[in-house]
Amino acid sequence: MSFLELGLDQRLASRCESLGYDKPTPIQKQAIPVIGTGRDVIGCAATGTGKTAAFLLPILNRIIEKSMPGVRALVIAPTRELALQIEASLAELSPSRAIRSVTLMGGTSMDRQLKALRTPPPVVIATPGRLIDHLERGTINLSRVETLVLDEADRMLDMGFWPDVRRVIEKVPAERQTLLFSATFSPAIEKVARSTMRNPGLIEVSPRGRAASTVDQKAYAVASESKTALLLHLLEEEDQSRVLVFTRTRRNAERLSHILSARGHKVNRIHADRSQAQRQGALLGFREGQHRILVATDIASRGIDVDSVSHVINYDVPEAPEDYVHRIGRTGRAGKTGQAITLVSPVDELSLMAIERLIGKKIERVVLPDFGGLAFAGPATGRPAGGAGRPAPVRTLRASRPGRRARR
Ligand code: AMP
Repeated sequence: MSFLELGLDQRLASRCESLGYDKPTPIQKQAIPVIGTGRDVIGCAATGTGKTAAFLLPILNRIIEKSMPGVRALVIAPTRELALQIEASLAELSPSRAIRSVTLMGGTSMDRQLKALRTPPPVVIATPGRLIDHLERGTINLSRVETLVLDEADRMLDMGFWPDVRRVIEKVPAERQTLLFSATFSPAIEKVARSTMRNPGLIEVSPRGRAASTVDQKAYAVASESKTALLLHLLEEEDQSRVLVFTRTRRNAERLSHILSARGHKVNRIHADRSQAQRQGALLGFREGQHRILVATDIASRGIDVDSVSHVINYDVPEAPEDYVHRIGRTGRAGKTGQAITLVSPVDELSLMAIERLIGKKIERVVLPDFGGLAFAGPATGRPAGGAGRPAPVRTLRASRPGRRARR
């Protein structure tokens, strides 16, 4: 099945080819023809499945087919990182410069946004807060919107953006196509879909919580106080080319970043206390290889689209099990293989089990006695987590002592 066979314009199909997309991914194969008919669609797909192109390509197709004035497609995303990611995909996929777009989000120049809106571009990408700002100022007119995309709708709900999104929906025509993308299909998402969509088709390429099959997942038993030593050991002793380290808190992200930097590692960090320019700089530097390690909190777990992330290391086990899926979705992207390593101290074991229940499988355990790792305890309920029904394979590795100098 080729992009042409999905009913896309030859110019779009050629763009996909020149981007190295050999064939449509499963979400693209299923969603593009349905979106092309104008039907509402709920797409349940984890990041890394090609879902952005799955909604952008049919939108671009419609714009290429028929030129019309006004904002024709509005894409709402929960975070600035994701908005920028969508903007970058749009620029890549657009066959000509004629398809203009503007990204409306906080932390960037209002003047530039106002200027871009004077002649409304066919595509607007926005985070909810800044979009509301523009609606209140009367600087954007959404009366010609044909397609509304709610990307990462589950995260918009989690982040409390739904009242803002509702206000936006009141400003777009009732006669429109709504596309809702979410990594999970929870009762809350179903409720939202019922209130905003008409007879939506449900396309689900990754059942709830399924992590990409190209990611090799391991949990390392470690004492809480030895986590940093183990992290250094992993970074310095193993062949890890491009590494994302996740922490739960901004403080931990700052602390680790400084420790790694002091050890001679090329590292940057991204979390909510960093300015927009700092976050973008950190992502760009990581993408371009200026620093091989990026330390991030969950705020960044969905927006980071960097090729060839070889390892995701969960220094802290995420608070919400769904965040685990998003974090490890940063590696093993578009068919490449990746490694996800989670450092698990005794207090994290219950969280690990919740993750296993969500992803429906046991994560391979590695016990490193040199870093204070004790054998993993069995589940408190006495029944294996994840419903896998088999005990987890436990490997014991001998590790060399931490404390060597960083190689890079
Ligand atoms: P997404 O799930 O939208 O975050 O996309 C994940 C990555 O897959 C992006 O880096 C895209 O450039 C890439 N991608 C999207 N579609 C394809 C395709 N058909 N073949 C190969 N890579 C793709």
